[in-house]
This record gives sequence, C-alpha cells and structure tokens, in this order.
Amino acid sequence: MISEVDIEAWDFYGSGQFNDYQNAAVGTAIYKSEHSVIYPALGLAAEAGEVANKVKKIIRDGTFDRDAIADELGDCLWYIAALCRDLNVDLSVVADANLKKLHDRQQRGKIKGSGDKR
Ligand SMILES: [Mg+2]
Repeated sequence: MISEVDIEAWDFYGSGQFNDYQNAAVGTAIYKSEHSVIYPALGLAAEAGEVANKVKKIIRDGTFDRDAIADELGDCLWYIAALCRDLNVDLSVVADANLKKLHDRQQRGKIKGSGDKR
C-alpha cells in the first residue's frame, strides 16, 4: 500500500539516490556506443532470465538462494541504469513515474487487472 505520506516523503526527499546509483553504475559500462540501448536491453532480458532460473530451482531442487536471487536483481538494476542512460532518462524519473502510476492505480482501485493504461 502506497500512502499519501509515502508520496509526500518521496517528493520531499526526492529520488536522487537513484541518479547517484545510475551515475556510479554506468561508470563501469564498457560496451561500444554503437551498441547503446540494444546492449543493455538484451542484458536486462538475460539477467531477468537469471532471476527466473534461480527462482525455478525452488521447484526443481527445493532450494531457495535468496542472496543469489538478490545478486541477479542487482545485475538487472545495472542494466536498467545503463538503458536509462542510453535513453537519456534519469533513473529517478523512471522510479518516480512508476511509483506515482501505481499510487494512482491504487487510488482508483485499478491495481488488479491488465493493460498498460489502466
Ligand atoms: Mg547475473
């Protein structure tokens, strides 16, 4: 549940830490500029697959490696930051828009269901 207080705090404190992360993380990007957007998009898809594979092992092996899953989520975050950089979008803007979209859906009782424009 995202409360009005959550949104006010988010707006007050800002989401600059996302940009701090983005700036630091993309400092390690080594792919060529002609591969911008496509390289991090494919990397994100691959890392999301790694998350799914770790989660799959819950079914196959009955194991749950929380740290390994969290590590793969970090890899996803890196690719998201790089993709944002390549698209000239601040990670904080993406996070802010997503949080407010979810809050709006929650307020309108539209959290459930499907469709991008609920
Ligand atoms: Mg990985």
